[in-house]
Amino acid sequence: MILDYREIGMWEDVSEDEWNDWRWQIANRITTVETLKEVVPLSPEEEQGVGKATQILRMAITPYFATLIDRDDPNCPIRQQAVPTSQETDFDEADMLDPLDEDADSPAPGVTHRYPDRVMWAVTDRCSMYCRHCTRRRYAGNTDGHRPQPEIEEALDWLARKPEVRDVLVSGGDPLLLSDEYLAYLLEELRKIPHVEIIRLGTRVPVVLPQRITQKLVDTIRQYHPVWLNTQFNHPNEITPETQRAFALMADAGIPLGNQSVLLRGINDCPLVMRKLVHGLLQMRVRPYYVYQCDLSPGIGHFRSTVSSGIQVIESLRGHTSGLAVPTFVVDAPGGGGKIPLNPQYLISMDTGKVVLRNYEGHLSVYHEPVQTERWEDVCPLCGTDHSQLDEGVIGLLSERETDSDLDLEPTEDVPADE
Ligand SMILES: *Cc1c(COP(=O)(O)O)cnc(C)c1O
Repeated sequence: MILDYREIGMWEDVSEDEWNDWRWQIANRITTVETLKEVVPLSPEEEQGVGKATQILRMAITPYFATLIDRDDPNCPIRQQAVPTSQETDFDEADMLDPLDEDADSPAPGVTHRYPDRVMWAVTDRCSMYCRHCTRRRYAGNTDGHRPQPEIEEALDWLARKPEVRDVLVSGGDPLLLSDEYLAYLLEELRKIPHVEIIRLGTRVPVVLPQRITQKLVDTIRQYHPVWLNTQFNHPNEITPETQRAFALMADAGIPLGNQSVLLRGINDCPLVMRKLVHGLLQMRVRPYYVYQCDLSPGIGHFRSTVSSGIQVIESLRGHTSGLAVPTFVVDAPGGGGKIPLNPQYLISMDTGKVVLRNYEGHLSVYHEPVQTERWEDVCPLCGTDHSQLDEGVIGLLSERETDSDLDLEPTEDVPADE
């Protein structure tokens, strides 16, 4: 049951128009212990915890998201994501301030260039809610505002000079906290760059502040298609009539929708919770895209689950339900190695012309494959190139090589080069 906001003293006189206005929601975010206590009862210990944790990552909870908290359940999955605890000041030995080396791989302000053909661009450090499991806690909420204009222009200049970048992931912070006008400006500038084929928005706003998704916003975005949008639902309780309305608007505007969950201990590291979540997502026309193993950012050790529980989530989905519902489980490699997909093992054994496979029920099958080697030798009749020239990463190890020194792969210092 979602709480009616009028039952909370400080909001009893708030009109529905105000409540449904995203600017009202932002202006009335819960940022102090006093207001938080009006919504959820806190133990003295918790109260202290809030004080300590917010010295590291500021607290902000949208009134809307706060009403999703089950006040009778101390382990409520919504509460755990929104309400700070003193555990955030406990650091593990393995913790790293910038576990994905995003700053080291940054050629322009806010830009992380990790993969050859695409970049992530953090245009703001502001979020509508500061998730307690935030991986970018080193800068999220530091200014609670967007980047200075000169930095935005510097990043745009850099992008315009990099023809290999065909995919720009606009992220933050949360890019949907920009005004419609500023977002239109950014999308317009990106669209002026001929080699930028697709634009992606990475945003949790549709989950924690669905009021932000207005007809005007989606009409703005659709002018710059193809624009894809990935969001972050972590638990089925986050699916509400408001989010259903928001995602319907976006899907009707032709925005392809995806979801990237974080595997969170005691919140969603359970196959049945995840199954309920992915089914709810498909009904909103949202495709489950990734499930992330929790990063090694400092102070989020209590949220970290095991890699094996992630693999079990996939095991319980693949084959058991619609393939569309099955995300890819990834570990974002510490040190900037990028996302590494992990799967249950379905390939049991293999020989020339033969592979032994198992299905989701554990049945073994033998599949007979053609014995074929010519694909890698000469010029490929399909694409007209010599595949032995493919030398990027592991695919290079598969191509024909002569010398011993090519039998293993040295990690490259700077991926990609020439920054
Ligand atoms: C996740 C990520 C991307 C996008 O990766 P995809 O696998 O294409 O979704 C791009 N750049 C950085 C730095 C990322 O972390």
